[in-house]
Amino acid sequence: MLSKIPFNKPFIIGNEVEYIKDAISRGQISGNGFYTKKCHAFFESYFNAKCLLTSSCTDALEMSALLLDIEPGDEVIIPSFTFVSTANAFILRGAKIIFADSQTQHPNIDHTKLEKLITHKTKAIVVVHYAGVACDMDAICDIAHRHNIFVVEDAAQAIDSFYKGKRLGTFGDLAALSFHETKNIIAGEGGLLVINNKSFEKRAEIIWEKGTNRAAFFKGEVNKYGWVDVGSSFLPSDITAAFLFAQLEHMQRIQFQRKKLWNLYFDALKEISNEVGLPYIPEYATNNAHLFYLNCKSETERDNLIRFLKERNIQAVFHYLPLHQSDYIKNLYDSKELFQAQRFSATLIRLPLYFDMLVDDIMEIVKAVKEFYYSNQ
Ligand SMILES: *Cc1c(COP(=O)(O)O)cnc(C)c1O
Repeated sequence: MLSKIPFNKPFIIGNEVEYIKDAISRGQISGNGFYTKKCHAFFESYFNAKCLLTSSCTDALEMSALLLDIEPGDEVIIPSFTFVSTANAFILRGAKIIFADSQTQHPNIDHTKLEKLITHKTKAIVVVHYAGVACDMDAICDIAHRHNIFVVEDAAQAIDSFYKGKRLGTFGDLAALSFHETKNIIAGEGGLLVINNKSFEKRAEIIWEKGTNRAAFFKGEVNKYGWVDVGSSFLPSDITAAFLFAQLEHMQRIQFQRKKLWNLYFDALKEISNEVGLPYIPEYATNNAHLFYLNCKSETERDNLIRFLKERNIQAVFHYLPLHQSDYIKNLYDSKELFQAQRFSATLIRLPLYFDMLVDDIMEIVKAVKEFYYSNQ
């Protein structure tokens, strides 16, 4: 049976279909075409940095690992409470992942415990702005700077969000965004690499284009193109870019609607904030309404709530099994305890949130959640 209220639903908002048709009629739907260039122009002014569209955020993270020349023996610090791609990108280059714990109030990386994870082998810190809420970037960049370590932002969830008034995605040497259908701005599958450290600009283009200097050739910077470095096919089709560009034109409307829905949840659930934890946003961060989660008191309570909602045709999900306890990592590394990451993994529940959601849908979910807590007391 189909859920009455699914967890996520892709949407179109403007000229997605028209732009795809237009891309085809222009005679080029492979990568780096008309709409890719339009997306690049949009993001380069948005982030004030060179940007490259990729087929996914996973791709942008893999490009980051290549650009940082990660090699076997290098250590990379990554929060355990994240999606597998954050770690996989660096594992693929042979790095040893040093898993970091979450904060007590928020699943984001606990910067106060970062410094003791650093060794002479540490090459990079990868931070994840969970739920689009900023990590403490002043503290993190300061630590990285003092130890001469690169910072990569996994900003997959963090479009249109800020740290002390500065846009997320502009802090790291590199930053990766996602346009997967579960994110705020979507293209089915899609991603972006933001290159804030200018020393990576040239090589990023080469790695993006299968290790060739094809991009420089088309800009007239070299008179023939060939194989000059390692690389892969990281660029998306112009069909993806056409869809994405139509969404970018309506970013404000999308964000306005998501924040409206998010605030409805928050205001209606405040009443039971003694029973269940509501999302926490530090004063240095903004809320981009990427996801709405609740933090239950125990794993049993969380699983019961998911079941309770499912019986009412509402699809809620949990998030992230901690990576340091995954089957893959358990076979490679000695076990360790990361108490907060394990706790969030056991107790966090994500409620449905998507652009086309109705106010009535939110109210129905709120009613069910309240019913669960009142009947449980
Ligand atoms: C969604 C997500 C990714 C992966 O994005 P894709 O575009 O699907 O590759 C990586 N990291 C985090 C934190 C995510 O939320």
